[in-house]
Amino acid sequence: MLNTLISRTLPFIPKKLVWQFSKNYIAGDNSSDAIAASRALNAGGVKVTIDILGEFIETLDQAENNKTEYLDLIRLVENSGIDGNYSIKPTMFGLLIDEEACYQHVRELVKTAREHNTFIRIDMENSPCVDPTINLFRRVKTEFPENVGLVLQAYLKRTYEDIENLLDLSTDELPLNLRLCKGIYVEPAEIAYKEYHEINRHFLEDLELMFKNGIYPAVATHDKPLITGAVELIEKYNVPKDRYEFQMLYGVTPKQRKSIVENGHTMRVYIPFGTHWFGYSTRRLKENPKMVSHIVKAIFYKG
Ligand SMILES: Cc1cc2nc3c(=O)[nH]c(=O)nc-3n(C[C@H](O)[C@H](O)[C@H](O)COP(=O)(O)OP(=O)(O)OC[C@H]3O[C@@H](n4cnc5c(N)ncnc54)[C@H](O)[C@@H]3O)c2cc1C
Repeated sequence: MLNTLISRTLPFIPKKLVWQFSKNYIAGDNSSDAIAASRALNAGGVKVTIDILGEFIETLDQAENNKTEYLDLIRLVENSGIDGNYSIKPTMFGLLIDEEACYQHVRELVKTAREHNTFIRIDMENSPCVDPTINLFRRVKTEFPENVGLVLQAYLKRTYEDIENLLDLSTDELPLNLRLCKGIYVEPAEIAYKEYHEINRHFLEDLELMFKNGIYPAVATHDKPLITGAVELIEKYNVPKDRYEFQMLYGVTPKQRKSIVENGHTMRVYIPFGTHWFGYSTRRLKENPKMVSHIVKAIFYKG
């Protein structure tokens, strides 16, 4: 109730005040902020994946601009010696307006990533995006097998089957690279698990399927029981350290992140930045009021 109330009033709260909430989770307005945040994390043995904020665009001109921004970012970051890669949201390149145009933009980004020997992860957005995003990934992955990965969401009932259907793209030398997360959008109960334990059970089932089939999973969670469950699976399948990684969001549960790194696991932090931080923050909070309690908690209780 309180969460919903706070999230509804957010659009009327001054931008400066929203920034007070958001700055813990967003590196800043521009690429120098993202590079500074990346350097600090790299210094602590943590890799990064950098994301320019922006999604669900309305015109293809915006898609073109977004691609240019990413191309500039890739060149800048690759010249800065940062240990990291990139995350992109397909609706930022027009996925829901013109799938072919979106494919051409993403293809150009991944081609540039290959030229720099780096990697781009395609984030997963809400459920209408899932089929077109998987199709987009398939096309790009076939051409650039080493330079692109996908995200799947454990709360979707279809995900186990989606993993099985993607197995034809995975080989021992070039395993599929899939980030597994719970999923952040509010989805209907017909297609998504809703209950905490149910989502967690499916998360671990999906992860086990990945390990059994030699997929390289990026285990994206801050949830302690899931981290413990993932470590148990890593031990059960004797997975080498270079065949998986953990991922967390910038600013979230840094103590937990540190302990995973100290235990010798690879950790990558997702760093969002950009001028669209205000819209992004308020939209996220409106979409999922539970986030408000995370933010309030993070403000009063660091780590
Ligand atoms: C690297 C990364 C990439 C992601 N990419 C996507 C994507 O492409 N598509 C998508 O739908 N979702 C994505 N997500 C979000 C994900 O789906 C979850 O919504 C989010 O990670 C919270 O789930 P959790 O597994 O941490 O578990 P929860 O049960 O939600 O959280 C467990 C605990 O972690 C802490 N916590 C979690 N989130 C926060 C927060 N924001 N602030 C403060 N504390 C927090 C709290 O202490 C909470 O009790 C991504 C998450 C990560 C880490």
